Amino acid sequence: MRTSFSRALPLLVGLAAAACGAPPPKLVAPPPLSPSLAVVGATLWDGTGLAPEANAVTVVRGDRILCAGAAGECPVPAGARVLDARGQYLIPGLVDSHVHLLFLSNGSAGEELGLDLRDLLAQGVTTVRDMGNSPSALLSRVAGFEAAPRVYAMQLVAGRRFFFNGIRPVQTSRGVVYRQAPALTMQWLGWTPIQFDRDDDPEAVIAEARRVGAMGIKLYAQLDSMSVRRLTEAAHRAGMPVWGHAWVQPTSVGEESAAGMDGLVHAAGLVGELFTPEERDTLVNDGDLQSVTASVATAVTAHDPRVLATLDSMAARGTAFEPTLDATRHSLATYDARTRHVPSVQEGYVRAAAQFGVEVTREAVKRGVRISAGSDHVAYGPVGERASLFGELQLLVDSIALTPTAALLAATRDAARAIGGQPGRLIGTIETGHYADLVLLSRNPLEDIGNLESVEWVMRGGKIWRPGQLRSGIAMR
Ligand SMILES: [Zn+2]
Repeated sequence: MRTSFSRALPLLVGLAAAACGAPPPKLVAPPPLSPSLAVVGATLWDGTGLAPEANAVTVVRGDRILCAGAAGECPVPAGARVLDARGQYLIPGLVDSHVHLLFLSNGSAGEELGLDLRDLLAQGVTTVRDMGNSPSALLSRVAGFEAAPRVYAMQLVAGRRFFFNGIRPVQTSRGVVYRQAPALTMQWLGWTPIQFDRDDDPEAVIAEARRVGAMGIKLYAQLDSMSVRRLTEAAHRAGMPVWGHAWVQPTSVGEESAAGMDGLVHAAGLVGELFTPEERDTLVNDGDLQSVTASVATAVTAHDPRVLATLDSMAARGTAFEPTLDATRHSLATYDARTRHVPSVQEGYVRAAAQFGVEVTREAVKRGVRISAGSDHVAYGPVGERASLFGELQLLVDSIALTPTAALLAATRDAARAIGGQPGRLIGTIETGHYADLVLLSRNPLEDIGNLESVEWVMRGGKIWRPGQLRSGIAMR
């Protein structure tokens, strides 16, 4: 909805003057609380689902949007700073609902985190949701950077076997290696998963999530369906969203959706629907998961009636879905680039997950499942190998045949819904009262999603950054 409360003001003043019968007193406008800024002449795509508006005006005051719409609907306040954007395209700041930003022991930390945040902002990403980390460590570090997207964090939760399944041999391309329980590896990275057993008090998990600053919980692995239901109900009582991996063995995707979870991540996880509950319960580590996925996930099994029934139930319940196709594409490219080929469980998994995931996502879109374009971006390793929102949107258009408009909605309005809570109501669309998070592009992204690369500037909370300024290091914080 594009509204303008400044449009209503002269009308109210006029009515008041007419009511008292005296000549209207000369009104002296009070000075604005803070100077306004008007973006004038751009084609406005506001992310609400409305058609684009040519030659639009968008007025920002402080960190909020005052009004946006046709020139007549949204007057430029006297004294406003005017930015001429004729021939350009104004869209909402992009929302990446799935990133991993902080690796304290190995990879990104400190100043490297700042670089990653600046690079995300330069791409037009003004909000991210971190889907696995130490929320308190991440949020306190992010607070030190001004040139950064808004960052929200989820608290990881997993079952007992994720923490205690012993040291075990795993066949890799390097030979046999001995792996510890996944929770220990995760803690070595600096992340802080919480353990939950079916008889534990879910309110204690929610209280801890709140204490560390998380806005919701992410169910990671090894949770039975009763645990999933109890955690989901407790989180919802506290107003927190619940997301998780598509299947957290032994719980299937269908059971997660039925438990009321808000969203599920990774298209390859729909493979869980192809196993019995007893079979799912035998999968206790990543290697098991990868080998069973490699053995059954194909372009044909993606259309299995059990997978389709679950997608239909997700569509009916409004369970959101993040396919994370770009992350799989990057893994595939790494294997393709190897000159010496040594078969491994991980490679078999990636190749199977890639084709299965694309087919499952096509079915999900066809069946009306709501897509959020989270990328699974990891602030770790070479920059060129990191999944990005831009890459995810391109795959949604090129491989899934979404229109550029539908893909953009998955990274604006629908990604804001995915984030949920209070922040989700203030981001993702250009509307009165929302955060002034905007991206100005020199080319039309609705014609070609690749035009998202043509960022002129990014505004976060009313402050403008240019990509060159962010990437050159002029903006150091
Ligand atoms: Zn992830």
